[in-house]
Amino acid sequence: MMIGKETGEKIKYDLIVIGAGPGGYEAAIKAAHLGKKVALVEKDMVGGACLNRGCIPTKALMHTTHLLEEMRSCGELGLDVKEVGVDFEAMHERKKDVVKQLRDGIAQLLKANKIDFFQGRAVIKSSGKVAVLQQEKLIPPSEEAETALDADTLNAVHSSSTHEEMLHADNILIATGSVPARPPIQGLELPGVVSSNEILEGEGRKFSHLAIIGGGVIGVELACVYAALGTEVTILEAAGQILPDMEKELSRSLAMSLKKKGIVIHTAAQVNRVEQVNQMEQIEQAEQVNQIESVASMHSSDYFIKAKSVECDKENIQKQLRRDEGNAQKKLQCNEENTQEQTKCDEKHFLNVAFEVKGKEMNLRADGVLVATGRKVNIAGILDCDSDGGSLIETDRDGIVTDENFQASAAGIYAVGDAVSGNIRLAHVASAQGIRAVCRMFGVDSGIDMNYVPACIYTSPELATVGLSLEQAKQKGLPAKESKFLMTANGKSVISRQGRSFIKVVYEEESHRILGAAMLCARATDMISEFALAAAKGLTLEDMASVIRPHPTYAEGITEAVEAGLGGAIHAAPTR
Ligand SMILES: Cc1cc2nc3c(=O)[nH]c(=O)nc-3n(C[C@H](O)[C@H](O)[C@H](O)COP(=O)(O)OP(=O)(O)OC[C@H]3O[C@@H](n4cnc5c(N)ncnc54)[C@H](O)[C@@H]3O)c2cc1C
Repeated sequence: MMIGKETGEKIKYDLIVIGAGPGGYEAAIKAAHLGKKVALVEKDMVGGACLNRGCIPTKALMHTTHLLEEMRSCGELGLDVKEVGVDFEAMHERKKDVVKQLRDGIAQLLKANKIDFFQGRAVIKSSGKVAVLQQEKLIPPSEEAETALDADTLNAVHSSSTHEEMLHADNILIATGSVPARPPIQGLELPGVVSSNEILEGEGRKFSHLAIIGGGVIGVELACVYAALGTEVTILEAAGQILPDMEKELSRSLAMSLKKKGIVIHTAAQVNRVEQVNQMEQIEQAEQVNQIESVASMHSSDYFIKAKSVECDKENIQKQLRRDEGNAQKKLQCNEENTQEQTKCDEKHFLNVAFEVKGKEMNLRADGVLVATGRKVNIAGILDCDSDGGSLIETDRDGIVTDENFQASAAGIYAVGDAVSGNIRLAHVASAQGIRAVCRMFGVDSGIDMNYVPACIYTSPELATVGLSLEQAKQKGLPAKESKFLMTANGKSVISRQGRSFIKVVYEEESHRILGAAMLCARATDMISEFALAAAKGLTLEDMASVIRPHPTYAEGITEAVEAGLGGAIHAAPTR
């Protein structure tokens, strides 16, 4: 039994939370608000993946690069900015400051709420019993290396550790999150192959040519960051479209805007292997196909030229020429430091990414490969095996199995966030589940409706959805319709020079009840909450049209989109 830090009395907690990401720390604070005695165990840093190597660092970098893009084209606004440069180190320093400020804020909140914080790795020994192992006693040191170990090895590591503290509680909440997944592709262990962790933590990474395996949210957002910095970016997505879970129109529209930024996208692209190639080998290969090589080198092609795939290479070179034109402007604007970096990159070893599209193998040269193919649950070593060698709670390949109240298969053990099987892996989902699970354990109604989860992508334009698409509604047999407003007629969008953007509303045909919405426009990630509220509270098109939205704002587009379903948006030509 733990000895109270100040009183000297033994403490049995009402709740032990494992993991201080958004799922864990918010649950701990909520339990404290309910007057409960809470222990929070974290092996790394408070804020979890979201704050330290996920949502916040990506958006901090994206804030900078969006601004950079704005400044590059501000001549149209009557501004005379001679040169816009990038200080990569300063950009990452700023990101680190943002993360630190928020992390310090959470630490203060934990203290203010009298939550006992334990730094170390938690291992659940049995229902109600958690061992905390001091981190410095543990090997291996890195999260990546650690997740490569199986649970038995990790438990062995733990049991050899000398510093162990035992905590007791009526309830345990597991919120241990997820880590980057590495698909079984040959060569992903090579230097230069990174996950979002390496790109977002600490000093970041510089690349002149970045191949991104995976065109999901993380891949797409980081593609935008690097493209704005002058890196040549290619996305290789195995599915038929980027953002495979999004409806086609949204994915296609976003792909168009990424291509305008110079990002090359290959869909239905299966990566076969990544291999290291040094410059001498490149030259030897290129000499075999002199003619094409001379064209390619004139235009600094990304692609290796192989005699056996001349046809395919011709296509690639043409594509590259088009891409080079688009990138030329951007490159000119890169500061001197970037140019030096590019030269350094050209001198060092390159990676060759061999991928296949429609049965044709293609080769892509890059000095960096970002693996963004998803995340896997982080529960290795958290559960001590029972005396029969079985697990205390049920898990499957995707994570911890829970019921709708986030109760795991053993009494008094709950799980939330990325660690839960079948979950939507988003920070606000983890937070909402944590609060809901705590309310449930202490007999309070959280009032949180888990049915409407907004999903956001912070590209430019932003993309946000909630509820059902028209296709999903129809699949569910709902008599649904969709109304749409093109934001090209929205004053604020014209002022701020937005490109193609729109708002779509899905509603029930008879009742006009809001079923879902999709937005591809500026501030979509903020505005989607109006539709989340409307859908969760069963509001109708008429309800949404009944309030006055200020002018000029992007939010006026919401009024127009719902009015389009009620007989016509004011700023759209009448449909016959
Ligand atoms: C690049 C990137 C960008 C993202 N952008 C967004 C976004 O814009 N919006 C969004 O909603 N989501 C985003 N996400 C997803 C979001 O980060 C996760 O969904 C969210 O962090 C999950 O929260 P969690 O509390 O479940 O777990 P985590 O945030 O992963 O926290 C788990 C914590 O548990 C700790 N832990 C693990 N095991 C133990 C143990 N045995 N003992 C003690 N502590 C332990 C870990 O160290 C970690 O701190 C992004 C993710 C990435 C990678």
